[in-house]
Amino acid sequence: MAERKHITRGLRFTLTAVYTLVFTILLVGVSLLFRTTLKSSLDQQAREDLDQNWAVVKAYLRIDNDEGQDNYHQNWNYDHSDPDESSTVAAVQGVILITDAQGKPLEPTSAIYQTLGVDKPNQIRAALQSAQPVWGEKYDPDGVPYLTRAYYVYDAKTGKRKFYVSIGLSLAGPYKILRSFTWLVVGMVPLVILTGYVIGWVFAGRALSPVVEIANTAQRISGLNLSLRIPQRGAGDELDRLIETFNQMIERIEVNFNNVRQFSTDVSHELRTPITVVRGQLEVALFTAKTVDQYRDAIVNSLSDIERLSAIVRALLLLSQAETGQVILQKQPMDLVETVDSIVDQFQIPAEGGDVKLQFTSHVSHCPGDFDRIQIERMLSNLLSNAIKFTPPGGSVEVILDRHEDDAEITVKDTGEGISPEHLPHIFDRFYRVRGVGEQASPEKGLGLGLSFVAWIVRAHGGTIDVQSEPKKGTAFRVVLPLINAEPPRQDNLTVPGESLRSV
Ligand code: ADP
Repeated sequence: MAERKHITRGLRFTLTAVYTLVFTILLVGVSLLFRTTLKSSLDQQAREDLDQNWAVVKAYLRIDNDEGQDNYHQNWNYDHSDPDESSTVAAVQGVILITDAQGKPLEPTSAIYQTLGVDKPNQIRAALQSAQPVWGEKYDPDGVPYLTRAYYVYDAKTGKRKFYVSIGLSLAGPYKILRSFTWLVVGMVPLVILTGYVIGWVFAGRALSPVVEIANTAQRISGLNLSLRIPQRGAGDELDRLIETFNQMIERIEVNFNNVRQFSTDVSHELRTPITVVRGQLEVALFTAKTVDQYRDAIVNSLSDIERLSAIVRALLLLSQAETGQVILQKQPMDLVETVDSIVDQFQIPAEGGDVKLQFTSHVSHCPGDFDRIQIERMLSNLLSNAIKFTPPGGSVEVILDRHEDDAEITVKDTGEGISPEHLPHIFDRFYRVRGVGEQASPEKGLGLGLSFVAWIVRAHGGTIDVQSEPKKGTAFRVVLPLINAEPPRQDNLTVPGESLRSV
């Protein structure tokens, strides 16, 4: 019980864990992708803003010197009365560095830029020689990031002298958005994963509950309650198929179990009667017999009952070997016309003894096929001995052989006492004998095993058998045997024991 619970819990846990792991990987992956996309679009936006600021520099900044002198200085030519222009230029002037080619700043350099650190001469040289603006990132003492864009402008008078201009833009806003997003993800992901895990756990538990039910039912099943079945859920899914398969398996086990139970009941019942009779005879002989002849009579009677006991045991052994697949058919090519004819011949004497007319009619001159000769002879012997046994004097028995395409059809028809409809479905059962009112089982009436054997032999050859009977009119057994590929559906490994009983 504990182990079962453990396994179920393990499966549920594994399912949930795998699902949560996959879910987590996907969630983290999507969050990272989203963050990268957000960052690159914020960066892109900042670059576009700086490009616009550069346009302001180009539009309004003039670098002039006094006539003939080297004192270059910056002039911002814009309409000071226009608030828009003023604020646009002021924003650009907020973070700007302007130097000459040697890196000497022109006054005034913006205070913020100074906190970011003035660019080194080699950086300045590189920007002056570059064909593209040089982008960079700087940090103020508080760690706020700035995007910088460095390039050059020419002096306004000659247009020949290059001056280094670097403008910057605070990334505090975009970085704040990015940081908020990161914290949101870091805070939410564990919560979402936990919720996912709980939901997964509940659903896995629900999905696996039929499995637990199957396990519980299987646990309760024993020889005493094989009729237990697991109720279908009606979902039509894999678990319903599992339940159906399980129920079918239990049904097969139940049928087999009942067969075995019935068989042992039948066997003990069949053996008990002759044993009681033998015992009675011997006891009577012991206490009452006085002469040698009386003793002899008792022993002879006992021997005949013991002979019946041996016959039952032999027949049972053979039947159980056959039905448990320990008998292998020894198939060989043979002509059914010859075989049937020879068996019918052998039964002429007993038939005459019972004043029964026995004849064989074959609609074909040859009927070749692969069969186990001994088993086919045994099958015919059983059907014929029954037909003769249950046909009163003056009646007749006819064996008819015919062939239809790939099948041979053998019919054993008599004009005997017939079998009433309520008995017909059972006559192939073991030990089943039809008795008249008040009639006891008697050795002459047989063991009730013959037709079980016949049915098995026909099945083992891949054929079919059916019976039609009318009380007081007669009975006809019809056997159809395939002539080609006569492989039995099941139990095809059948070994014939050394001893061969013609009739059981
Ligand atoms: P048994 O050894 O008693 O003949 P079987 O299995 O061969 O056992 O037959 C089972 C029962 O079927 C017989 O007891 C008999 O009542 C009935 N039966 C079989 N064949 C015939 C037949 N040809 N005519 C009438 N009853 C038959």
